[in-house]
Amino acid sequence: MKTDLFFYTGTGNSLWTARMLATELGDAETVPISRTSGAPIVSGAEAIGIIFPVHIWGLPRRVIAFVDALENNPSRYHFAVAVNAGQVAATLIQLKKRMEAGGLSLSTGFELAMPSNYIPWGGPGPQEAQNRRFEAARNKIGRIAAAAAAREKRPVEKGPLWQNIIFTGFNRIAFSRVPTMDKSFWVDEKCDGCGICKAVCPSGNIDLPGEKPAWLHHCEQCLACIQWCPQEAIQFGKKTPRYKRYHHPEVTLKEILAVTPTR
Ligand code: SF4
Ligand code: SF4
Repeated sequence: MKTDLFFYTGTGNSLWTARMLATELGDAETVPISRTSGAPIVSGAEAIGIIFPVHIWGLPRRVIAFVDALENNPSRYHFAVAVNAGQVAATLIQLKKRMEAGGLSLSTGFELAMPSNYIPWGGPGPQEAQNRRFEAARNKIGRIAAAAAAREKRPVEKGPLWQNIIFTGFNRIAFSRVPTMDKSFWVDEKCDGCGICKAVCPSGNIDLPGEKPAWLHHCEQCLACIQWCPQEAIQFGKKTPRYKRYHHPEVTLKEILAVTPTR
Protein backbone atom coordinates (compact mmCIF):
# COMPACT_ATOMS: atom_id res chain seq x y z
CA MET A 1 0.00 0.00 0.00
CA LYS A 2 2.38 2.67 -1.24
CA THR A 3 2.28 6.17 0.23
CA ASP A 4 3.82 9.29 -1.31
CA LEU A 5 4.82 11.84 1.33
CA PHE A 6 4.98 15.29 -0.30
CA PHE A 7 6.76 17.77 1.95
CA TYR A 8 7.65 21.45 1.88
CA THR A 9 10.59 22.51 4.03
CA GLY A 10 12.89 25.44 4.75
CA THR A 11 14.76 24.64 7.92
CA GLY A 12 14.18 20.89 8.06
CA ASN A 13 11.28 20.36 10.51
CA SER A 14 8.93 19.13 7.77
CA LEU A 15 11.68 17.19 5.99
CA TRP A 16 12.47 15.36 9.23
CA THR A 17 8.76 14.70 9.84
CA ALA A 18 8.34 13.25 6.34
CA ARG A 19 11.41 11.07 6.81
CA MET A 20 10.20 9.77 10.18
CA LEU A 21 6.76 9.05 8.75
CA ALA A 22 8.31 7.16 5.83
CA THR A 23 10.25 4.99 8.26
CA GLU A 24 7.13 4.29 10.32
CA LEU A 25 4.96 3.54 7.29
CA GLY A 26 7.41 1.30 5.46
CA ASP A 27 6.29 1.37 1.84
CA ALA A 28 6.56 5.15 1.47
CA GLU A 29 8.52 7.65 -0.57
CA THR A 30 9.32 11.25 0.38
CA VAL A 31 8.90 13.81 -2.42
CA PRO A 32 9.92 17.49 -2.07
CA ILE A 33 7.08 19.81 -3.11
CA SER A 34 9.72 22.38 -4.17
CA ARG A 35 10.81 20.02 -6.94
CA THR A 36 7.34 19.32 -8.30
CA SER A 37 6.25 21.34 -11.30
CA GLY A 38 3.52 21.62 -13.87
CA ALA A 39 -0.04 20.40 -13.59
CA PRO A 40 -1.43 17.95 -12.97
CA ILE A 41 0.98 16.52 -10.41
CA VAL A 42 0.50 12.78 -10.75
CA SER A 43 1.12 10.08 -8.15
CA GLY A 44 0.69 6.35 -8.53
CA ALA A 45 0.47 5.83 -4.76
CA GLU A 46 -2.70 4.66 -2.99
CA ALA A 47 -2.20 7.29 -0.29
CA ILE A 48 -0.70 10.78 -0.16
CA GLY A 49 0.56 12.63 2.88
CA ILE A 50 1.11 16.39 2.67
CA ILE A 51 3.62 17.67 5.24
CA PHE A 52 4.25 21.39 5.47
CA PRO A 53 5.06 24.22 7.89
CA VAL A 54 2.36 26.62 9.05
CA HIS A 55 3.29 30.12 7.84
CA ILE A 56 1.69 33.05 9.68
CA TRP A 57 -1.15 30.76 10.86
CA GLY A 58 -2.00 29.49 7.39
CA LEU A 59 -0.88 27.62 4.29
CA PRO A 60 2.33 28.61 2.49
CA ARG A 61 1.68 29.87 -1.03
CA ARG A 62 3.75 27.00 -2.47
CA VAL A 63 1.58 24.42 -0.71
CA ILE A 64 -1.57 26.03 -2.09
CA ALA A 65 -0.08 25.84 -5.59
CA PHE A 66 0.79 22.18 -4.99
CA VAL A 67 -2.69 21.05 -3.90
CA ASP A 68 -4.25 23.07 -6.73
CA ALA A 69 -2.07 21.13 -9.19
CA LEU A 70 -2.52 17.70 -7.61
CA GLU A 71 -4.25 15.21 -9.87
CA ASN A 72 -7.80 14.43 -8.79
CA ASN A 73 -8.07 10.77 -7.83
CA PRO A 74 -11.22 10.05 -5.78
CA SER A 75 -10.08 6.59 -4.70
CA ARG A 76 -6.84 7.83 -3.14
CA TYR A 77 -6.46 8.49 0.61
CA HIS A 78 -5.13 11.92 1.62
CA PHE A 79 -3.86 13.04 5.00
CA ALA A 80 -1.83 16.07 6.12
CA VAL A 81 0.59 17.12 8.84
CA ALA A 82 0.81 20.84 9.66
CA VAL A 83 4.14 21.47 11.39
CA ASN A 84 3.86 24.49 13.66
CA ALA A 85 5.43 26.30 16.60
CA GLY A 86 2.45 25.72 18.90
CA GLN A 87 -0.38 27.51 17.09
CA VAL A 88 -1.86 25.58 14.19
CA ALA A 89 -5.00 27.77 14.24
CA ALA A 90 -7.32 26.85 11.33
CA THR A 91 -4.59 25.92 8.85
CA LEU A 92 -5.81 22.35 8.32
CA ILE A 93 -9.39 23.55 7.82
CA GLN A 94 -8.02 25.96 5.20
CA LEU A 95 -6.25 23.03 3.51
CA LYS A 96 -9.33 20.82 3.58
CA LYS A 97 -11.49 23.53 2.00
CA ARG A 98 -8.86 24.26 -0.65
CA MET A 99 -8.61 20.59 -1.57
CA GLU A 100 -12.38 20.14 -1.64
CA ALA A 101 -12.66 23.12 -3.99
CA GLY A 102 -10.45 21.19 -6.38
CA GLY A 103 -12.41 17.95 -6.01
CA LEU A 104 -9.94 16.31 -3.61
CA SER A 105 -10.84 14.98 -0.19
CA LEU A 106 -8.69 15.31 2.92
CA SER A 107 -9.50 12.36 5.17
CA THR A 108 -7.70 13.73 8.21
CA GLY A 109 -5.02 16.19 9.29
CA PHE A 110 -2.71 16.46 12.28
CA GLU A 111 -0.88 19.35 13.88
CA LEU A 112 2.69 18.71 14.99
CA ALA A 113 4.47 21.17 17.30
CA MET A 114 8.20 21.68 16.75
CA PRO A 115 10.70 24.39 17.78
CA SER A 116 10.04 27.72 16.07
CA ASN A 117 12.17 28.81 13.14
CA TYR A 118 10.42 32.20 12.85
CA ILE A 119 13.39 34.23 13.99
CA PRO A 120 11.79 37.68 13.52
CA TRP A 121 9.84 36.83 16.69
CA GLY A 122 12.72 35.21 18.57
CA GLY A 123 14.94 32.15 18.72
CA PRO A 124 13.90 28.50 19.04
CA GLY A 125 13.81 28.58 22.84
CA PRO A 126 15.84 26.71 25.47
CA GLN A 127 17.37 23.40 24.40
CA GLU A 128 15.39 21.46 27.04
CA ALA A 129 12.10 22.79 25.69
CA GLN A 130 13.22 21.94 22.14
CA ASN A 131 14.08 18.40 23.22
CA ARG A 132 10.66 17.96 24.80
CA ARG A 133 9.04 18.99 21.52
CA PHE A 134 11.22 16.59 19.51
CA GLU A 135 10.29 13.74 21.83
CA ALA A 136 6.58 14.56 21.72
CA ALA A 137 6.82 14.85 17.92
CA ARG A 138 8.46 11.43 17.61
CA ASN A 139 5.63 9.88 19.63
CA LYS A 140 2.94 11.66 17.68
CA ILE A 141 4.45 10.72 14.31
CA GLY A 142 4.05 7.09 15.37
CA ARG A 143 0.35 7.71 16.01
CA ILE A 144 -0.05 9.62 12.72
CA ALA A 145 1.55 6.75 10.80
CA ALA A 146 -0.78 4.25 12.47
CA ALA A 147 -3.82 6.37 11.58
CA ALA A 148 -2.64 6.78 7.98
CA ALA A 149 -1.89 3.07 7.61
CA ALA A 150 -5.42 2.29 8.87
CA ARG A 151 -6.84 4.89 6.41
CA GLU A 152 -8.60 6.60 9.29
CA LYS A 153 -11.11 9.33 8.55
CA ARG A 154 -11.60 11.91 11.28
CA PRO A 155 -11.91 15.70 11.55
CA VAL A 156 -8.71 17.65 11.01
CA GLU A 157 -7.05 19.02 14.14
CA LYS A 158 -7.42 22.71 14.88
CA GLY A 159 -6.53 25.30 17.47
CA PRO A 160 -8.94 26.78 20.05
CA LEU A 161 -11.77 28.98 18.73
CA TRP A 162 -10.11 32.28 19.72
CA GLN A 163 -6.97 31.26 17.82
CA ASN A 164 -8.95 30.29 14.75
CA ILE A 165 -10.82 33.59 14.66
CA ILE A 166 -7.99 36.00 15.50
CA PHE A 167 -5.05 34.30 13.77
CA THR A 168 -7.04 33.34 10.69
CA GLY A 169 -7.93 37.02 10.41
CA PHE A 170 -4.24 37.95 10.72
CA ASN A 171 -3.39 35.40 8.04
CA ARG A 172 -5.93 36.88 5.63
CA ILE A 173 -4.47 40.36 6.16
CA ALA A 174 -0.82 39.26 5.98
CA PHE A 175 -1.01 36.75 3.13
CA SER A 176 -0.76 39.27 0.29
CA ARG A 177 2.10 41.05 2.07
CA VAL A 178 4.30 37.98 2.55
CA PRO A 179 6.15 38.22 -0.80
CA THR A 180 7.50 41.69 0.04
CA MET A 181 8.24 41.06 3.72
CA ASP A 182 11.79 40.30 2.54
CA LYS A 183 12.36 44.10 2.54
CA SER A 184 13.26 43.64 6.21
CA PHE A 185 16.22 41.35 5.41
CA TRP A 186 19.69 42.88 5.41
CA VAL A 187 23.19 41.52 5.49
CA ASP A 188 25.99 42.53 7.85
CA GLU A 189 29.75 42.67 7.43
CA LYS A 190 30.19 38.93 8.16
CA CYS A 191 28.86 37.96 4.69
CA ASP A 192 31.60 36.31 2.64
CA GLY A 193 29.57 35.83 -0.54
CA CYS A 194 29.36 32.03 -0.26
CA GLY A 195 25.94 31.90 -1.96
CA ILE A 196 24.33 29.37 0.40
CA CYS A 197 21.39 31.71 1.04
CA LYS A 198 20.63 31.74 -2.68
CA ALA A 199 21.04 27.97 -2.97
CA VAL A 200 18.65 27.09 -0.10
CA CYS A 201 15.87 29.50 -1.07
CA PRO A 202 12.94 27.34 -2.26
CA SER A 203 11.37 30.18 -4.21
CA GLY A 204 14.38 31.51 -6.13
CA ASN A 205 13.99 34.80 -4.29
CA ILE A 206 17.68 35.62 -3.80
CA ASP A 207 20.20 36.97 -6.26
CA LEU A 208 23.88 37.67 -5.52
CA PRO A 209 24.87 40.85 -7.34
CA GLY A 210 28.32 41.84 -6.14
CA GLU A 211 28.42 38.62 -4.09
CA LYS A 212 25.99 39.98 -1.49
CA PRO A 213 22.40 38.73 -1.38
CA ALA A 214 19.55 40.78 -2.79
CA TRP A 215 15.95 39.74 -2.13
CA LEU A 216 13.58 39.82 -5.11
CA HIS A 217 10.19 40.25 -3.38
CA HIS A 218 8.56 36.92 -4.02
CA CYS A 219 9.48 35.60 -0.59
CA GLU A 220 7.69 32.76 1.22
CA GLN A 221 9.03 33.73 4.70
CA CYS A 222 10.33 30.18 5.17
CA LEU A 223 13.45 31.66 6.84
CA ALA A 224 15.82 29.14 5.24
CA CYS A 225 18.19 31.90 4.08
CA ILE A 226 18.68 33.48 7.50
CA GLN A 227 18.77 30.17 9.37
CA TRP A 228 21.28 28.39 7.10
CA CYS A 229 23.71 31.29 6.54
CA PRO A 230 26.95 29.84 7.97
CA GLN A 231 28.22 33.29 8.97
CA GLU A 232 24.92 34.33 10.62
CA ALA A 233 25.30 37.42 8.47
CA ILE A 234 21.63 37.77 7.47
CA GLN A 235 19.40 39.83 9.73
CA PHE A 236 15.68 40.64 9.72
CA GLY A 237 14.74 43.96 11.25
CA LYS A 238 16.63 45.09 14.34
CA LYS A 239 16.45 42.19 16.80
CA THR A 240 17.84 39.12 15.02
CA PRO A 241 21.53 39.85 15.73
CA ARG A 242 20.86 38.64 19.28
CA TYR A 243 18.62 35.66 18.43
CA LYS A 244 19.92 32.11 18.17
CA ARG A 245 19.70 30.45 14.73
CA TYR A 246 17.79 27.22 14.24
CA HIS A 247 17.49 24.33 11.85
CA HIS A 248 16.38 20.83 12.68
CA PRO A 249 19.43 19.19 14.34
CA GLU A 250 19.05 15.95 12.37
CA VAL A 251 18.81 17.69 8.98
CA THR A 252 21.96 18.80 7.18
CA LEU A 253 22.57 21.60 4.72
CA LYS A 254 23.36 18.96 2.10
CA GLU A 255 19.92 17.40 2.59
CA ILE A 256 18.21 20.80 2.24
CA LEU A 257 20.15 21.53 -0.96
CA ALA A 258 19.05 18.15 -2.30
CA VAL A 259 15.37 19.13 -2.02
CA THR A 260 15.64 22.76 -3.18
CA PRO A 261 14.85 23.50 -6.83
CA THR A 262 17.94 23.44 -9.05
CA ARG A 263 18.56 26.70 -10.91
S1 SF4 B 1 24.81 32.59 3.07
FE1 SF4 B 1 25.43 34.29 4.39
S2 SF4 B 1 27.61 34.51 4.06
FE2 SF4 B 1 26.83 33.30 2.36
S3 SF4 B 1 26.34 34.81 0.74
FE3 SF4 B 1 24.48 34.49 1.91
S4 SF4 B 1 24.52 36.09 3.47
FE4 SF4 B 1 26.60 35.94 2.67
S1 SF4 C 1 14.20 34.68 0.68
FE1 SF4 C 1 14.64 33.52 2.53
S2 SF4 C 1 12.71 33.54 3.66
FE2 SF4 C 1 12.23 34.16 1.57
S3 SF4 C 1 11.63 32.26 0.55
FE3 SF4 C 1 13.82 32.54 0.19
S4 SF4 C 1 14.84 31.40 1.80
FE4 SF4 C 1 12.70 31.66 2.41
